Order: sequence, then C-alpha cells, then structure tokens
Amino acid sequence: MTKAYANLIDGEMVTTSDTIEVVNPANEQVIGVVPSCTKDELDRAVDAARRAFKTWKKTSAEERQKVVQGIAAAIKDNAEELYRLLTSEQGKPHAQAQQEIYGAAGLAAAQSTLTLDDVINQDDDTRLSRTRRVPVGVVGGIVPWNFPIMMAIQKIVPALVAGCTIVLKPSPFTPLTTLRIAELLKDVVPAGTVNIITGPDELGPMITEHPGIDKITFTGSTATGKKIMEGASRDLKRITLELGGNDASIVLPDADVEKVAEQLFWSSFSNAGQVCIAAKRIYIHEDIYDDLSKAIAEYAKGVVVGDGSQQGTGVGPIQNKKQFERVCELIQDAKDNGYQFLTGGDTDPSGTGYYVPITILDNPPEDARIVAEEQFGPVMPLMKFSTVEEAIERANNSEYGLAGAVWTKDTEKGVEIAEQLETGTVWVNEFMQLSPFTPFGGHKQSGIGAEYGLDGLKEFTNPQVITVKRDAAV
Ligand code: NAD
Repeated sequence: MTKAYANLIDGEMVTTSDTIEVVNPANEQVIGVVPSCTKDELDRAVDAARRAFKTWKKTSAEERQKVVQGIAAAIKDNAEELYRLLTSEQGKPHAQAQQEIYGAAGLAAAQSTLTLDDVINQDDDTRLSRTRRVPVGVVGGIVPWNFPIMMAIQKIVPALVAGCTIVLKPSPFTPLTTLRIAELLKDVVPAGTVNIITGPDELGPMITEHPGIDKITFTGSTATGKKIMEGASRDLKRITLELGGNDASIVLPDADVEKVAEQLFWSSFSNAGQVCIAAKRIYIHEDIYDDLSKAIAEYAKGVVVGDGSQQGTGVGPIQNKKQFERVCELIQDAKDNGYQFLTGGDTDPSGTGYYVPITILDNPPEDARIVAEEQFGPVMPLMKFSTVEEAIERANNSEYGLAGAVWTKDTEKGVEIAEQLETGTVWVNEFMQLSPFTPFGGHKQSGIGAEYGLDGLKEFTNPQVITVKRDAAV
C-alpha cells in the first residue's frame, strides 16, 4: 500500500493537496507519496524558522547539545525501520543502508560536542579585543538522493549546534526516510528550529532566493551548485557547496595485488558507484596492471547485483531513471568507441528496475567520456601508467577536486604523491574515510567551503569582533 508522508513545519506534520510519488528503484513500484510544497509552505517554514531563531540563538551550548543528542537517539532507536525504508527508496543494500543510518546517528552524537570558543585577539592595558562566532540565522539545506540521511543530518546538526535554525529540502527521489525522521524529530527539537519540506526541483531555487534565508548549505551536482551560487548572490547569502567529483586512485607497483583488489573494488562500487568520493578513475602502474586488473575482475564475479532488500546483494540498482539512462549512455558510448571491457557492459534499459551490471573497462583512453565525466554508477575504468609524474598529471587533469587515493607500501612516497594531488582529501591506503571532526570539502569545481569539524561548524556562523578601549579618554 502507498503510504502518505507529511512535512515538518513549525513543529506540526503538514500535508498538501498536490503530492509527489516516490518509486522503489529495485522494482519501479510507487512506495509513498510526499507533499509537493509551493512558495506558501516555504514561506510558512521560513517564517517559523525566523521566529524560532530568536530564542534558539540564545540557548547555551549545553542545551543545544542535549537536543542534538536527542536527534542521535531518535535515529538510533528506530534504526531498523529507517534502514529498511532507506533501501526501499534509495536502492542500496541493507548493510549499506544500516551503515548510513547508524553513521548519521553517530555523526549527530559526535558533532553535538563541537563548540566554537571565543578567541582573544588582544588583552593589554590599551585594549581588550575578542572574536566570537555568532549564528548566521536561518539556513536553507538542499540534499541529493545518494545519501539522503547522512547529508540531511550533516546539515541539520551543525546548524543547530551553531545556534541556527533550518529549512531542509530532501531530493524528490528520496524523501521518505527523511520525512519519517521528521516525524520522530517533531517531539525532539523545539518547534520551528528544524523544518523539513518536500517538493520538486523547482522548490530549490525558491529556497536559494528566499529573502528570509541567510545561508545555503547544498550537496549535489556541480551544475546545480553553480545555479545556487548565482541565486544566492542576490542578497549575498553565505554558501557551502559540496559538489561532484571524479576521484582518481593511483596504485604504485609495490602494492599487494590480492590485498588491494577488494578494497579498490569497493572504493568504486559501494552504493552502486553513486558516491561523490567514489574512485572513478583507477591508475595502475604497468608492472602490476595485468595482475591487478585480473584480480579486480575476478573479485567482481562474486558480487551480486540486485534488489538491496535481498540478502546477499552487494550492488543495488541505480537510484532513479534519469541517472540510470545516463550511466547506460556512458557505457554505450564506450562500446561504440570499441573500448575493451573486463566485465559488464550489457545494460538493458527496457528491463524492470534500474540495474546496471558491474562494469570494468580495460585501459580506455584518457579522453573517453567514461573517464573524463563523473559516471556516478557501477563503472570502473582501469588505466595503465608508466611514471608517477604521469599518473599525478593525469589525476589532476580534471575540473573536479574532491578526493583521491594512493596505494603503496611506501607510505612516505604515498604522502609525497598525496601532497601533489589537487583535491580536498587524499587517502593513503584507505578510501572514503571521513571523520566528524575533520573538514571535508572540494577544491576546484567540487565545491566551496567545508562540512564536518570546526571548519564546517564555522560556516554556520559569522565572526563578530568586540573591542574595549581600556585607556580611553571618556
Ligand atoms: P542535483 O544537483 O540534481 O540535486 C541535488 C538537490 O538539489 C536536490 O534536492 C534537487 O531537488 C535540488 N535542486 C535541483 N535543481 C535545483 C536548483 N536549480 N536550485 C536549487 N536546488 C536544486 O544532484 P543529485 O543528482 O541529487 O546528486 C548527485 C550529485 O551530487 C553528483 O554530482 C554527486 O557527485 C554530488 N554529490 C556530492 C557530494 C559531496 O559531498 N561533494 C555528496 C553527494 C553527492
């Protein structure tokens, strides 16, 4: 049966007459309907957030911490229901949905402890000068469909911790779990501090341009990020943009083929490759290229592509039809150009469910679309390199700069290479490792600003300097 979900506005669960259908990507069946908000509901949400801000900004760090810990507990206590729902709308296998739900609860609990202390700039006979961080105001949060819960929590939590209130918009493709959490939060957060509204993509620009919103925190594609920057410029809203990536991994000849094969596989195929920080280009030294590419292809044979709710599934469907068609198009382009496949490549756009087989390409050229563009699907191009200098140059030859990885037994060499990569994060001998206390953000067209850690928290504040002249003649 199709369940109707409601929005959270000013502490109340609210519905609209128009709704949006949400589809399970594993079987294309409608599994829920959500409100389709217009400017009216947005105005109500912003108005509630502005009123709530007046009192929330004056609360102590301890009070805010308590509320945020309540959010963590609400998610954790309902984890099983939430991860099952997440799989049904997003497609990711249960184990990965579980990781996202527990990860979001963990992130909330950890970030509840962050505080931005005052900084004393000068303290002498002449003057006392102090910088404090004041909350920026009402935040507009806009979230994509690949990690709907993690992304929502990493916007809601620092906003609240900083003393801001928020109006959050999930992706129209994956709003259900977020709205179930909204229902749980109704009795956890003070009315108006967190408002969650759903609607089509067109609701996004309305948020970006709303005069009652002071800051936009956005995760999504680079193309949309540019539109957001433009919309936010009208009244100089603060912006944090976490955008696309085309992350490169560089594997040096001393890497242990058997040990890295499995890790490299999951660095590309986790969440069916729909991860901003997935390895999307793998550069392997020519000395181990044949052995390692064979080992990865061999490992891939044991991974099941299917419905994420079924036990044993390792790679679920693509989340939505548009993205499915895009990935199929990239694979078709590779076939049309005669590139070699180690495995996969046979897509069936007419089948039920948005399934793409695990697809690994054998040394396609650097300018192949499947290498140069962000695939955002279960596709992994493996490329051969001869010298480290060449690998670094090829890795950096991208408009993106989100993350990257180096695989080698020589960690000193790994760090030396890492420092030459033009990305916000570089891992040596691991992948997708993020910490609630460490800044995460993109260089180049992968973003502006950072989330996570004190750097991320600061983005929800403005610095205010107060000086007192001590030897004034007054
Ligand atoms: P998207 O840009 O299409 O949509 C993201 C959100 O923006 C959705 O809620 C959508 O409704 C909204 N939106 C659409 N048009 C808008 C507009 N003109 N103004 C304001 N909001 C608008 O992205 P997506 O397809 O949902 O997500 C995939 C992309 O997100 C990939 O490029 C991926 O790399 C990126 N991503 C980045 C990170 C990161 O942290 N850097 C994390 C996850 C995903």
